[in-house]
Amino acid sequence: MEWFDTHAHLFNEDLLSQIDDVIQRASDASVGTIVAIGTTLEDSRQCIELAERFPHVYASVGIHPNHSAEANEGDLDEVEKLMSHPKVVAIGETGLDRYWDFAPFALQREYLDWHVEKSRQYDKPLVIHMRDCADDVVQWLEQSRSVGPLKGILHSYTGDAPLAELGVACGMHISFAGMLTFKRNQELRDVAKTVPTDRLLVETDCPYLSPEPCRKQRPNEPALVVHTGVCLAEAHGIEPAEMARITTANAKKLFGIAET
Ligand SMILES: [Zn+2]
Repeated sequence: MEWFDTHAHLFNEDLLSQIDDVIQRASDASVGTIVAIGTTLEDSRQCIELAERFPHVYASVGIHPNHSAEANEGDLDEVEKLMSHPKVVAIGETGLDRYWDFAPFALQREYLDWHVEKSRQYDKPLVIHMRDCADDVVQWLEQSRSVGPLKGILHSYTGDAPLAELGVACGMHISFAGMLTFKRNQELRDVAKTVPTDRLLVETDCPYLSPEPCRKQRPNEPALVVHTGVCLAEAHGIEPAEMARITTANAKKLFGIAET
């Protein structure tokens, strides 16, 4: 059985300070592959450093909407230079966020459109963050798909079934994180059940929100993605081993990582 953590913020100090152990524990827990996700120019570079150091770690580069206002002029150009690196398998984290007020919404949208353009240009999938802005995401999906095909991930998904369905229709994968396992989130598990299996992914979004039954464990880390995977398998009424096979194959295909 092999799992794939599609979204990990490994540059976090709590994880970085014990990174060899974090990677070892992931491998002991049958988490075979990890994508380290960048949110600024600086940590996009760090993600690549980690990807160069660990064979089963890959990188995604981009500037998170909540960091778009603080980015320096020229940061996007520098991020673009990282995109042709052989271990960069995705573009982002980008997206839209109305929960925090760190950057004007119009600027977030401008950054999002830039990442979409680069995703098409470099033929690498997008990593999309969305928080408290479902209507904006619907609008963005509709507009973007009228321009051209999309490929990517609605990450740490907590939206409703119609939005997931639209995402899938637009070419997106739907990735579930620890919140799927929280007792009160039956509604989210019902949504997960509606997503076609060939578009399902799992992630930790570590260091945030560890899954049950390790919810009190801080920081969250890639090894714990297994719990989210087991929960997703239950929601779909299939064996964990089968869900591991499905989600890992989906991720490898999406990121263009050869099966080993
Ligand atoms: Zn993230």
